[in-house]
Amino acid sequence: MIQQDITAKPSIPGHDPRFARLRIVLVGTTHPGNIGSTARAMKTMGLARLILVAPKARIDAEAEAMASGATDVLRSAQIVDSLDAALIGCHWVVGASARLRDAPHELLTVRQAAVQAIRELAVQEGEVALVFGREHAGLTNAELGRCHAHMIIPAHPEYSSLNLAQAVQVTAYELRQALLEDEGLRPAVELPAPAPHDAVENLLAHWQAVLEGLGFLDPANPRHLMQKLRHLLQRARITPNEVDILRGMLTAVQKKMKN
Ligand code: SAH
Repeated sequence: MIQQDITAKPSIPGHDPRFARLRIVLVGTTHPGNIGSTARAMKTMGLARLILVAPKARIDAEAEAMASGATDVLRSAQIVDSLDAALIGCHWVVGASARLRDAPHELLTVRQAAVQAIRELAVQEGEVALVFGREHAGLTNAELGRCHAHMIIPAHPEYSSLNLAQAVQVTAYELRQALLEDEGLRPAVELPAPAPHDAVENLLAHWQAVLEGLGFLDPANPRHLMQKLRHLLQRARITPNEVDILRGMLTAVQKKMKN
């Protein structure tokens, strides 16, 4: 699989530059038609940055046919082999799921998520991702655990699972409306930029190594605690400087442990 520079921003002629910092991420898609339809759904709303995580489908003639006039978005789709790779550089990530889970996530409607996504794009150089799951199985709990918030399209409760590309369409529409409504209302908000996904994951790996070294954490079963710590860091909107401070402390602990 070809790994590309996931942080490279495409130039989208005639489009709002903020959308160049917004990624639509599809995980494990099985139907080529859905990838094509997603490209079309995106382009109609001014989005262009499509990332495919370990797709089971190829970008074939069916995908091209469903993309219709959006083959440019389809052809520039980037393919990566893990969700973590797709989220490099992102400081805010929302995962779309039709099913309510009992994870301690912030739960947003698609409209609230779109408004917040536009706000997060006011963070200087901030990168935002919206993650969609597999046609048959959605997103795993571990994948949703990587996200800062969980987004739901409030559909008919008795049959709430939309087709993947249609879920992207509704989301892209809400993003566009949120962008248009945001126009001119607010000067660029001076939010401190939180650390990107990869920096937080590296901090967590470092933290885990130290906790294991101290015997605080059972290496056989680290998941629960590390997920809680991930949530803590997400809620805190930890900055790159704070990541450095914590990693410095961890390194100091490791040095003492070696002596
Ligand atoms: N059978 C799967 C549904 C997959 S639909 C399941 O039970 O999870 C494919 C993807 O579209 C989902 O993973 C989700 O990202 C998105 N999606 C579909 N309907 C949605 C809804 N009502 N709200 C939020 N996302 C939805």
